[in-house]
Amino acid sequence: MTSILQADVYVSSRLPLAIKRQGETSSFSPISCTLIHGLTSAVLIDTPISISQTEDLAAWIKSTAPGKDLRYIYITHGHGDHWFGISTLRKHWPNLRALATPGTVAHMAEQIKPEIFEGTWLALFPGGQIPAVDGLESAEPMSSSGFELEGHEFRAVEVGHTDTYNTSVLHVPSIRLVVAGDAVYGDVHQYFGEANTTAKRQEWLRALNTIEALDPQTVIAGHKRAGTVDGLFNLHKTRQYILDFEDAVSKASNWKELAEDMRRRYPRRINPHAILRGAMAAFPEAAIAKV
Ligand SMILES: [Zn+2]
Repeated sequence: MTSILQADVYVSSRLPLAIKRQGETSSFSPISCTLIHGLTSAVLIDTPISISQTEDLAAWIKSTAPGKDLRYIYITHGHGDHWFGISTLRKHWPNLRALATPGTVAHMAEQIKPEIFEGTWLALFPGGQIPAVDGLESAEPMSSSGFELEGHEFRAVEVGHTDTYNTSVLHVPSIRLVVAGDAVYGDVHQYFGEANTTAKRQEWLRALNTIEALDPQTVIAGHKRAGTVDGLFNLHKTRQYILDFEDAVSKASNWKELAEDMRRRYPRRINPHAILRGAMAAFPEAAIAKV
């Protein structure tokens, strides 16, 4: 039988944050984890954050692709919310290989330095929700731009700065599919905490052009509403949101005005708190203010 790949998307729960933002309780954005599978084997792209979310993902993989061997996990970029689950998945699939570009692997190492791991991740998710730092497993840096499963090519495409630096997407030409990580968002507010200059946001727009040039039929966003179809419209809407943010920056005189403007323009996107970090980062004088 010929191997024809199919794909399924798991959308995680929203983890409650232990820290209030502007006096309000909030939850983290839902995270997409994509399973691409053939006749007998499978590839996962990205993991959730917490141990219990990742155990839920493992059960979902086993029910979605029963008996198939999870051979690879590909990590799209270094933010911890896309790879802290690797060590939990390894307990279920001891032989799997976790892969990422060398740039992503370097970023992963940055994320577990104390100021970021303790200052951000443990502060947001305390009490053993995520593995201890010495229980986390990183990915191995890829020596080439891709790998293969059942004769199908999987290509890592580096797209530069999107919601952070050194990001990538995974292109699967045989099914014209791109797993876009956080280069593309679904119906969730986009994170501009690091894309805090016009130059970086222009780099993000160029990344979207790079993805579009791959001519995909399916584009899976890194953070999305469960149930949303993974169409190319996700890419177009991500581009429009960046252009709207740029316009809102030019019209706002402080970060609060900017945040309010984006909430007004996008009243229905998930996680309006995500825009606070971006709004503050766009106004350097707000950097001393804590979210
Ligand atoms: Zn990210």
